[in-house]
Amino acid sequence: MRIPCPVCGARPSEEFTYRGDARPVRPPMDSSDQGAWVDYLFFRDDERGRIKEQWQHTGGCRAWIVVDRDTATHAVHGSELARDAAEGGQA
Ligand SMILES: [Zn+2]
Repeated sequence: MRIPCPVCGARPSEEFTYRGDARPVRPPMDSSDQGAWVDYLFFRDDERGRIKEQWQHTGGCRAWIVVDRDTATHAVHGSELARDAAEGGQA
């Protein structure tokens, strides 16, 4: 599988480190809602199909990126820098 790094271009997936599903949103740091923290830290849906995932290009520029990938086919539909995704961009 090749992953399109927005900085380096398409590179082999072996150069990247997978972090997980990019969709869960961390509760506010001062939140005392233990259920929200447990959900954020330990539970993922493990969906089949297109999802957005966080990867780091550890064997390259070290950028954090959000990859739009199909977990069933491994087809990659795009990527963007994580900071751009956090600002409302689209992968
Ligand atoms: Zn890169």
